[in-house]
Amino acid sequence: MSVLTVRPAAPVRRPVRLPAPAATWIVAASAVPAGELDIGLLAGPYVAADVLARRLRTEGRRVVLTTGIDDHHPDVVARALRTGRRPDDVAEAFGEAIAADLRHAGVRLDAVARPARDAGHRRRMQAWFRRLCAEGVLVGRTVPWLWCAPCGHWLDGALAAGRCPGCDAAASGGACPSCLRPNEAVELAGVRCAVCGGTPEVRPVAGYVLPLEGFRERLREHWAGLPPVAGALVRWPAEVPATRPGEYGLPVDGARLATAFGRALTHLVAAQTVAADGPYRAVHFLGSRDAALHTLLIPALLDVAGLPLPRHLHISEPYTTGAGRPLWAIDAVADVGADTLRRHVCAYRPVGRPVVHRDRELAGSGSRLTEGWNGWLAGVLAVVRDEHGGRVPDAAPGGAGWRELRAGLERTGEELAQAHEPAGFAPRRVVALLDGVVARAAEFAAVNAPEPDPGRRAAATAAQLTVASALACWAWPLLPQGAGRLAATLGVRAGRPAATALRGPAAGTVLRAPAGPLFGL
Ligand SMILES: [Zn+2]
Ligand SMILES: [Zn+2]
Repeated sequence: MSVLTVRPAAPVRRPVRLPAPAATWIVAASAVPAGELDIGLLAGPYVAADVLARRLRTEGRRVVLTTGIDDHHPDVVARALRTGRRPDDVAEAFGEAIAADLRHAGVRLDAVARPARDAGHRRRMQAWFRRLCAEGVLVGRTVPWLWCAPCGHWLDGALAAGRCPGCDAAASGGACPSCLRPNEAVELAGVRCAVCGGTPEVRPVAGYVLPLEGFRERLREHWAGLPPVAGALVRWPAEVPATRPGEYGLPVDGARLATAFGRALTHLVAAQTVAADGPYRAVHFLGSRDAALHTLLIPALLDVAGLPLPRHLHISEPYTTGAGRPLWAIDAVADVGADTLRRHVCAYRPVGRPVVHRDRELAGSGSRLTEGWNGWLAGVLAVVRDEHGGRVPDAAPGGAGWRELRAGLERTGEELAQAHEPAGFAPRRVVALLDGVVARAAEFAAVNAPEPDPGRRAAATAAQLTVASALACWAWPLLPQGAGRLAATLGVRAGRPAATALRGPAAGTVLRAPAGPLFGL
């Protein structure tokens, strides 16, 4: 994992090249280093983005998986003020923790955009800011901001507490957790300082705004026929602040970049870096609170820069653990292992509706792997050990019901391919299809267990090893640890293309069963 870096300027004369196939740029929405990584964020953008990236890589497609860490987010400042620390120290500590948590959950990122820690990225954002001002994309405007005199800070994000101007639910600055309407803190009804509870003053502040009206039709057209994101386009205000007062945020011309605009500009610079390697198609994974940022603000800036707009959005609803009882990703990985956690957050992925976490469902996700999957696999490996000296039998796959099972697996392979397409990516369906493979294989094993003829027994065992090999292939994007162990046991390659899924291990291969469980370690 590296920080996105500046590339040298392109040479004036480029060698003639054949057009490269477009890369798939998978973007997981930026994290805010104001706390540990919560299981809700794994269930939202991160694990799903990683599963898609892994699957597309097995197909030989060029994939870039990135996210960002927004050190300048006002929630970092709020956390610092509440705990008596410096915002920089809060961002540093939680930024490192989040990166480590993602690694432990098996999320393999190619780059993390972190302008606060990357002078090159920062300079390019500042250059873009000046260019957008010079071209009149950003315009000077004096806008009201909230100032808490006793605390001595401007209110933004989690520092402002009030009620949503759209639905009247309790909300902080940024986006309403109930109706998702984006807001500026000054719009909140009954707004107070979240640190001291005092009523802030409204002060006029000169700065820059990005008027959005000019982009609305173009973006409406772009999103037509794509997932229903029109709500965000309707609710987004006519203009958003590009700058904010105060001492937090990336410095630009005597001010600081405003939160949402700063995130969009971070993305724009990352997009230029990705585009320098050739054409790309972007697929974004984000929580619903970031919908307006990814449907309007980011595309608007990409449009100005002449870069490709996002092609597909995968928007998740909140996955919550109940008030005051967070479940940190790091604890969940330690408790149940990365594979069980990845399987669980995909099986209960909060798409189309919010999801409330239940411990017994997480335990159920684990036992599906440790009892269902491992139970069947242990049975096959025991037969190989006891009846074939630990080697793959030299027999063509067969047995009662093999023809039907094989046809079913071919259909499953096609359905899995569909479920892993960037447009219709469906992690919940992936989990169900993989469970179906194991269920059918276990049934096949039970039906063939009483077979007395050694030749037919060997054929049924070869058939099950073919299914195990397919499972190692198909499960790898979702469950890389267990699928990797299964592949090593069978002597087949982990993360191989799905087109080779139904090739079983070679006859005579010595199977190296691991000491521990295959899945759900
Ligand atoms: Zn609301
Ligand atoms: Zn205050």
